[in-house]
Amino acid sequence: MIQLYIPLNFLGVIYREIKQSLTDLDKMFRLLEKEREVADVPGAAELRVEGAAVRFEGVSFAYDKARPILHEVSFEIPAGRKVAVVGPSGSGKSTLARLLYRFYDVDAGRITIDGQDVRAVTQASLRRAIGIVPQDTVLFNDTVAYNIAYGRPGASREEVEGAARAAHIHAFISATPKAYETMVGERGLKLSGGEKQRVAIARTLLKNPPLLIFDEATSALDSHNERAIQAELESVGRNKTVLVIAHRLSTVVDAHEILVLEAGRIVERGDHESLLALQGAYARMWRLQQSGGEAQALERP
Ligand code: ATP
Repeated sequence: MIQLYIPLNFLGVIYREIKQSLTDLDKMFRLLEKEREVADVPGAAELRVEGAAVRFEGVSFAYDKARPILHEVSFEIPAGRKVAVVGPSGSGKSTLARLLYRFYDVDAGRITIDGQDVRAVTQASLRRAIGIVPQDTVLFNDTVAYNIAYGRPGASREEVEGAARAAHIHAFISATPKAYETMVGERGLKLSGGEKQRVAIARTLLKNPPLLIFDEATSALDSHNERAIQAELESVGRNKTVLVIAHRLSTVVDAHEILVLEAGRIVERGDHESLLALQGAYARMWRLQQSGGEAQALERP
């Protein structure tokens, strides 16, 4: 009986392992599927980054040709500056980020980094140059150390810990029984939204790319965490070119330029002061924020 029990129990473990591996494989293939939407042109050059200045020139795009999403969007992020995009849900903000990372190709216009069309350079060199702190960080079913080192495979334990310290997640990790060897993800320790974002910040710190995309979480963290994470993002983004997809106006006040996107069109643009003076959509959002409805203000201007 015991002999029978052990192998069956063991089989159960193997079954769970295989099932999990298949889930991971499935995820990987879905990612690869996405990758296939774009391909390197024959003889594509490596992206040569100087200051990582970004330009969108008359960019139009639709996921489904019957439903245009972006209409002739043009803007520039000078090297080392921050541009923020605000606007209602579904207006196309994250789509701008996906096009810059070249998950998809534009239908019209072009996107350049330091004058080089993103379609003309290798995807590998493009993605090495860009760090993304997404709304919802994907954690692998692996150790905390692996999840952070994913930003730069081959990073030493000291470097991983250094990045975790800078992202203010080292103390939390150290307090778990196996510290950096703790498993996270679906099968392991579940991290809160704020903790996951910190892992993403630590990854990005390790990668240290010249161009950053922050896609702010829609769901508000508690205000203490929110402020702390914003301060960390500030320090990660210092002297880098940054595109922020903002859901909270407090993040955008110091931006070089703020773009107000509505239904895929830039309807207002300028810095915080000039947009307030315009007394338009941005000023309305700002007033709503002052009355305490910040997240909602950006969702429904
Ligand atoms: P939010 O503030 O809610 O994150 P957003 O402004 O970032 O919204 P996008 O994610 O850019 O909006 O989406 C713009 C539009 O494109 C939406 O109507 C969305 O439904 C659609 N869309 C997004 N991704 C896809 C996709 N992969 N295939 C088809 N349509 C998509």
